Amino acid sequence: MYGSENLVNLYREGEFKACYFSFTYTPFIENGEITGVIDMAFEVTDQVLARMSKDLIIAQKIELEQTLRASEQRLQMILDTMAEGVGIIDLDSTVVYANQMAQKILRLSKAEVGNWKFQNPNWKYFRVDGRSLPADEHPMVVMMKKREPVFDQEIGIETLDNEKFYISINAAPIFDGNGELTGGVGTFMDVTSRRLISQHKDDFISIASHELKTPVTAMKAALQMLEKGKGELKPEMHERLIQQAIKGLDKFSKLVNDLLDTNRISRGQLELSHSNFSIKSLFEDCCGHVEQMGIHEVILKGDATLKLHADEQLLSQVLVNLVNNAVKYAPNGKQIIVNAEQHQNNMAKISVVDQGPGIEEDKLVHLFERYYRSEHGGGNYSGLGLGLYICAEIIKKHGGKIGVESKIGKGSTFWFTVPLAES
Ligand code: ADP
Repeated sequence: MYGSENLVNLYREGEFKACYFSFTYTPFIENGEITGVIDMAFEVTDQVLARMSKDLIIAQKIELEQTLRASEQRLQMILDTMAEGVGIIDLDSTVVYANQMAQKILRLSKAEVGNWKFQNPNWKYFRVDGRSLPADEHPMVVMMKKREPVFDQEIGIETLDNEKFYISINAAPIFDGNGELTGGVGTFMDVTSRRLISQHKDDFISIASHELKTPVTAMKAALQMLEKGKGELKPEMHERLIQQAIKGLDKFSKLVNDLLDTNRISRGQLELSHSNFSIKSLFEDCCGHVEQMGIHEVILKGDATLKLHADEQLLSQVLVNLVNNAVKYAPNGKQIIVNAEQHQNNMAKISVVDQGPGIEEDKLVHLFERYYRSEHGGGNYSGLGLGLYICAEIIKKHGGKIGVESKIGKGSTFWFTVPLAES
C-alpha cells in the first residue's frame, strides 16, 4: 500500500506548516507470518509546492488570456460596427488593416486588405473644388511626412469606372516602443451625400440669382428709358416700356412666390382651406390670361359641371402652373386642352394637354422633383424647377395623384386627381 502526497500539518520552526509526504506500507514478515508493518515516509513538500505554484501561474495565465481575448473581441466588435472607416497603413503605404466600414467605403474586398496601396493607378484623388490632388498632398502622406496628426481633411476619389465619392479623413502616425514610425491610422467617413447637397445648394443659389436678376434687369431698363424720355416718348413706346416693366415684375414675383411656397412646404406649413366649386369656375379663373395673350387657345373639354372639394386658391395655382408650362414649353402648339372627367374613388381627373415637342422618357420621372429643370432644345427658359414640385405637394396634400404622359413629337399631358364634392 502507499499514500501519495498526503498533507500533514507539522509544527516546524515555531509554527504549523503544510507539508506533504508520500508513504509506502510494506508488511514485516517473520517466519512466514506478518508481525508488523514497515511504514516509510518521503517528504515531497518542495516538489508539491513547486507544482502548485506552476499550476497557479498557468491558471492566472489562462485567466489573463481570456480577459485579453474578451477585450480584443470587444474592440473588434466596436471596429466592425463603427460608422467610420478605420484603416492602418505601413511605411510602404500598404493598407494592412481595414475595418468593415473602411472596406465598404473604399470598395475593398477582404482579400485585398494587406496588399492594396491607397495610392494606386486606378484611383484619382481630387480636392473639393474639383482640382486634382497631388500625391504628396494626400492627408495620409502629409501625416506620415510630418509625423503629426491631420484632422478633417475632405478629399474626392474617382475610380477607374468614373465613380466619384468624397471622404472626410483624420490621420495619425503610429510609433513603436522605441519611438520609431511604423505606419499610420486613418479614420474616415463617406461624405458624398453631404457634399452633393452643398453642391446642389451652390448650384441653386447661382441659378436663383441669375433667374431673379433677369426680370430685374428688364424692369430697370424699361424704367430708365421711361425716365430718360420723359414726356417725349411716343405713346406706343411708352405703353411698350410699361408692359415690359410689368412683365418683369410678374416674373420676379412668380419666382419669389415659388421660393416662399417651397419654404412653406418644407416647413410643413401648407394648410388647406376646403370649399366646393365647379371645374368650370376654376377653368375660367385660371385660363383667361392665356387667351388674352392671343397665341394659344385654351379649351375646356369633358364634364365641366363636376364639383370639386378642395382648396380653391391652391388648386388654381396648380392649374395656372400647368397651363403656363404648356404655354412656355409648347410655344408653337396652338391649342391647350383642359380635360375634366370623373375618376375612381370619388375623385376628378383634370388633364392639361399641349401640342409641344414632348419630353424624353428618362426625364419624366424627375419632373416633379424639387429644383429639377431639363434642357429644351437649347431654349432659354426662365424658372427654378419648383413649379411642378409645388403642384405635386399641393395635390399630395389633397390626397390626390399627379403624373405626366409624354412622347417626343407628340406633346405632353400633365394630369392630377382631386376629391369631388359630395352630391
Ligand atoms: P420651372 O418653374 O423651372 O418651369 P417646373 O417644375 O414647372 O420648373 O418644370 C420642370 C421641368 O419640366 C421644366 O424644366 C421643363 O423642362 C419640364 N416641363 C414642364 N412642363 C412641360 C411641358 N408642358 N412640356 C415640356 N416640358 C415641360
